Amino acid sequence: MADTAKIDIKSLQFEELQEMLRGLGEPSYRVGQIADWLYKKRVESFENMTDLPHALRAQLAKLFTFDRLEIVRVLGSRDTTRKFLFRLADGNLIESVLIPASPALYGEKSDRRTICISTQVGCAYGCKFCASGLDGFSRNLQANEIVHQILAVENQSGEKVDNIVFMGMGEPLANFHNVMRAIRIINTPWGLGIGARHITVSTSGLAPQIRKLTDEPVQIRLAVSLHGATDEVRNQIMPINRRYNIETLLSACDYYVTHKKQRLTFEYILIADTNDSDEQAAALVKHARRLNAKVNLIPYNTVEDLPWSRPSRTRQEKFLSILRAQGIAATLRREKGHDIEAACGQLRLQTNREKRQ
Ligand code: SAH
Ligand code: SF4
Repeated sequence: MADTAKIDIKSLQFEELQEMLRGLGEPSYRVGQIADWLYKKRVESFENMTDLPHALRAQLAKLFTFDRLEIVRVLGSRDTTRKFLFRLADGNLIESVLIPASPALYGEKSDRRTICISTQVGCAYGCKFCASGLDGFSRNLQANEIVHQILAVENQSGEKVDNIVFMGMGEPLANFHNVMRAIRIINTPWGLGIGARHITVSTSGLAPQIRKLTDEPVQIRLAVSLHGATDEVRNQIMPINRRYNIETLLSACDYYVTHKKQRLTFEYILIADTNDSDEQAAALVKHARRLNAKVNLIPYNTVEDLPWSRPSRTRQEKFLSILRAQGIAATLRREKGHDIEAACGQLRLQTNREKRQ
């Protein structure tokens, strides 16, 4: 099969596109034209790139594929959180979530449509409360598969996305190379042109990769999934903590904050009788103060077959009030339908299970 050697044209970075066109003997302005067709005008085939010579269009079609994501299911409607389930070329399923404008998500003021995207098929980190890891890890997503989620959601919804969170299925920093390639396409003006401050990467705490990310020149935001303020509690629910304990993680965060001169966010899911005690809140205050971090409290979203549940409303508010009383900038997600992280991973799990029945 001749086609197996071909790659999607959207896997290329600008310089690679430039290089390829130079090799074909094309003038340098062609690269801008092609990037425009791909990311601004969003055509669906090489044939539609009407200001390119016919011969070049045919040549590109011979060299590259023109991939798209197949939409399998869309749940939700306008004005609410919408979940998209996609099928990749190899049959694997991934999902993205579109969240309508909402106040104070990840440092944004409001009036922003946020998309939560996946970076891997499944996840190898096996956090005990999370749906994404339940079926294990299959593979990393390629940069184009990451970018395609945004294009497909914009196409389908007719809405422009202005905030990207890497909080879907998978651990972004375990797929560092492809995530960085995707971020460059999302960020640069020739691609989607979304500002780095509107891009947030969430990690379960891969300390060495947090340092590596610090050394990258891009100023994206970082969210760290803490979910436990002592090693004892974190060990219970996040196996990664046995590899990089809280001190190792926090010192990598120190490095990030100092070098990037940026505030980071701690994500903290509230799980009943597990990490929601006053003592955990007090320990969390210390970590947040040390890093001048914001804290995002997220009431746990139940996952079928998993034993965890969310604390009562009163308990959630109490936890929040302990943080606030100590001067920590903390938010508690209250609106229904904004449980974006929870949404990610669950739709795929459900669909895979239905298929097996
Ligand atoms: N792997 C990365 C990013 C994807 S998970 C990470 O762990 O940070 C994105 C967020 O969703 C994490 O904070 C994760 O802990 C949270 N999450 C997973 N399952 C959840 C659930 N059932 N309810 C609420 N949040 C959940
Ligand atoms: Fe993986 Fe993040 Fe889920 Fe943990 S919370 S299993 S790291 S996706």
